Parts: sequence; C-alpha cells; structure tokens
Amino acid sequence: MPALLNIEAVSKRFGAFAALQDIHLHIGQREFVALLGPSGCGKTTLLRTIAGFSHPDSGRLSIDGQDIGRLPPYRRPLNTVFQNYALFPHMTVLENVAYGPRRQGASRREAGQRANEALTLVGLEDLGERYPREMSGGQQQRVALARAIVNRPKLLLLDEPLSALDLKLRKRMQLELKHLQEKLGIAFVFVTHDQEEAMTMADRIVVMNAGRIEQVGSTTEVYSTPATRFVAEFIGEANLIDYRLDPEGRVRLDAQALALTLPAPAAPAGIAVLRPEHLRLLDEGDDGAACRLHARVKDIVSVGSHTLLHVETDEGAQLMARTPGLPSRHLGVGSRVTLGFEPVHLHLIGAPR
Ligand code: ATP
Repeated sequence: MPALLNIEAVSKRFGAFAALQDIHLHIGQREFVALLGPSGCGKTTLLRTIAGFSHPDSGRLSIDGQDIGRLPPYRRPLNTVFQNYALFPHMTVLENVAYGPRRQGASRREAGQRANEALTLVGLEDLGERYPREMSGGQQQRVALARAIVNRPKLLLLDEPLSALDLKLRKRMQLELKHLQEKLGIAFVFVTHDQEEAMTMADRIVVMNAGRIEQVGSTTEVYSTPATRFVAEFIGEANLIDYRLDPEGRVRLDAQALALTLPAPAAPAGIAVLRPEHLRLLDEGDDGAACRLHARVKDIVSVGSHTLLHVETDEGAQLMARTPGLPSRHLGVGSRVTLGFEPVHLHLIGAPR
C-alpha cells in the first residue's frame, strides 16, 4: 500500500542551529507512529512542519501523493491536538466540537450531529452541554480529541497530549487513544519523550536525536536491535561493552577478557549491547550459562516487580543485571556474585569506519 505521508529530505535551521537534518520518513495509512527523543531533539519542530505551522528550508512533504508544502495548515487533510487543549471557554463542549464543521460550512444541525458522533467516539456523549471548566483534565483531553477528529482528517498529529494528566489517567488514556485510532482507521503521529508511552501505543517508533532520525522500527526492533549507541542507551537500560574481532574472527569483549564465536558480526570493532535482563545471577554450582562473569555487587535497586543489581566485574567493567522479584536475603552491597549470559543475546553495533 502506498504511504499516506511522505517526508523527503526535510531540513530546518533556526539561525545557525540545525533543528531538523535531512529527515526521510514514510507513514502508512492507519499507522500509529511515535516521534520519540530527548528534549530539544526536534520532535515538535517536525510535527509543526507536517502541520504547516513551521516551514522547512528544504525538502518535500506529500499526503496521498499531493504536495502539501505550500498549503496553509487549515487546507491540509490533517488536524493537530496540542499539549494545552485550547478549548473555547465560553462555548459548551458540543459547541467546541461543532465549531470545525460549522466553519467548513455545515448546517447547525449537521454540525451538531457530527459533533455528537465525535463525542460518542470519545465516550462523552452525555456531557455535551457542559462548559470546559466543568470537565476534569482527562475529559477536557477527550473534548480536544473529539474536536480534532470531527472533520475526519486522514492524519491526526498529537503533541504530548497526555502530559498534563496524572500517571494513572495517563496510562488509561494511552490505551483509549490506541483503541480510538484503531476504530477511526486514520493515521496518528504522536510526539512524546516518554519511551514507555511510545512503546505502549505505537506501531512504529521514530527515535530522534539532535535533529536527526537515529532509527525507525517497532518496539521490538528498537529495543532488541538498536541501530546506534544512542538508541541502545535511550531505549531501556543497556550494558554497552566494547568489542573487536580477533584474527580468528571471534568477538572479543575486551573489558571481560572473553572471546566468543557469534554469527558473522557487522564490523571489525564496535559495541556489544547486552540488556540487563539477559545477564543472569547464577546460583552456586549453576553451570547453565555459556558465558560467565565474576563480579562484586555495588548497588541494589528494587522496585518490587524486579531488582536491578549494579556490579563491577573482576576485570573492572560496570554492568547491570536485572532479576525478577525482590532481592535474595543473602545478597548485599559487596557480595560476590557469578553472572551468566548467552552469546545469542549480544547485539553488535559496528563502529563507523
Ligand atoms: P521538547 O520535548 O522539549 O518539546 P522537542 O524535541 O520537541 O523538545 P523542538 O521543540 O522541536 O524540540 O526544538 C528543537 C530545537 O529547536 C530546540 O533546541 C529548540 O530550542 C529549537 N527551536 C525550536 N523552535 C525555535 C524557534 N522558533 N527559534 C529558535 N529555535 C527554536
């Protein structure tokens, strides 16, 4: 299926500062895509560029094959939900939602009907006569959503729309948004700096850093096979260990004095990524792991559902190991431990030549 939104070679500078650098991105019909990255990486600038509030210095944008680069925001077949919901305080909820269709020339009756349909979709069909000040934060968020979808755009852009909500409500709204998107069958592009939020909702995650796209992929892809060191560190927790190939073609983890045979790695040197849950605490006499390390516990952080052990190996490398549940009674800072992992869990990122 051809992509809905095509972004080709888009760049944007603010003075000497490069906010977007050569962005290429293709978003499918009905796809939920999250733009994820640290503060200042260019997520909002990219979203505003798609919406038409910011103009790129170079590059092309098209929706369904139509060049949208010269269209003002209101002529683009999309809508935006902003962080602050920007509802009209003097209008009822129904009037807020009906405002868009009215402006587009719909009769009062038709606009009201469409607004009611949109409010039903977000579960607010009974609250149309209230004013925004009479609604909770979560309800206001849903009014903003209803207003954005009432004209049935092909693409909905969302700029951190859940950031004003408390954690519990935010988690519920994440699932609601995902279901709403599936029900509507339109594409969503969602800006967030929260990786868990991106992973909960998105079909694909666009990881951005310093105005560039580092990787585009599913949750599994960006977590299990990060393309760059930045992605490995930004998504979840990671042990990063320098590696090089020895003359026999084996992978040497220098800090560990370990040599492993792996299926053809990408480059002669780089970093090996090992997620903490793949570094297992071995009981005495357990020789089940292919690779073993001896270490001393430096720190123990337990959050109930799992425990993170910070260790220093005998070779001096700082690593993290995650174990399910609470820490064993016998474990304390300074304890000597044996850790094990399987070579198949190492993901190699070759250093650029
Ligand atoms: P956040 O998560 O903090 O909202 P972001 O990834 O959305 O960050 P952007 O708002 O896209 O980041 O900003 C990217 C960079 O461009 C930032 O360094 C910002 O200061 C800069 N920038 C954005 N808009 C302007 C502007 N109008 N003039 C000058 N610099 C700008």
